[in-house]
Amino acid sequence: MAENLLTMVGGEPMGVGDTYNCATEVISLELDVLGKELNFRIGLGKGRAKLADIVPLARTICTKITDAVVESIYSDGGRIPCRKGCAACCGRYLVPLSVPEALCLKEEISAAPQYQRESMFRACLLAARRILSQKPPEQFLDQTAEASPVSTAELNLVSSWYVSLKLPCPFLYNGVCTIYEQRPLACREYFVKGSAEACRGRRGIAEVVQMPLQMPNVLAQLAGELEGASAEAVILPLTLLWCEQNPERAGRTWPAAMMVKRFVEIVKEMASKNSTAAVA
Ligand code: SF4
Repeated sequence: MAENLLTMVGGEPMGVGDTYNCATEVISLELDVLGKELNFRIGLGKGRAKLADIVPLARTICTKITDAVVESIYSDGGRIPCRKGCAACCGRYLVPLSVPEALCLKEEISAAPQYQRESMFRACLLAARRILSQKPPEQFLDQTAEASPVSTAELNLVSSWYVSLKLPCPFLYNGVCTIYEQRPLACREYFVKGSAEACRGRRGIAEVVQMPLQMPNVLAQLAGELEGASAEAVILPLTLLWCEQNPERAGRTWPAAMMVKRFVEIVKEMASKNSTAAVA
């Protein structure tokens, strides 16, 4: 995984041995998130990279951004109940993955120990059967075609339909996320202010925290540009099935340096459109 990419955050190399030695150029990314400056130094490898290879870098940046937002809420006296081990919202929302994330998750699950891998595949298959046995809204089907971008209203319709299925996340086992370290960016970016009880549909208030940058959108745009297609999203329970049906997209490669540079540009473009995340 990520053999062709080198990520350095705060000056600390996070790449793996050979890749680190292969870095020919280092580029910087500076973001100002709610007044906190985040500095990233990203090494560019010489080789070629698959779409899945960009995901660790996206996860690193995403975590730094969400940490800054959470810290800012706490310093203003706010309360966030979200933490590792709380699965109050898991299964209550549609979790979309960008194509690079879908391909990366498939690789990670395939590399898991056999028992774990088989039980995840089984759980996803059962969830996929349940989803596909229902009649989804037209907009859901359109997303697999070369469709124009889905509007917020259409997305809300698909989301409400999905929630009505009351389908627990296939990666939730005994109330614990079994892929916590590899969880989708949408899960990483989901935080609420208030009470986790409200997330369970009980009493209290849970106000969703707006993140300054949606990393799944960054990856969706990047993948769309590289593949020459429109931006796509794959819903979490259908991810493994979708990957089985798109094997050629897992193996396609691009020059790693070009991919990382464009990724950084898209992050900057999206951040500069948002008032709470500026390019420093
Ligand atoms: S992947 Fe993990 S964090 Fe995301 S919805 Fe599923 S169980 Fe929850």
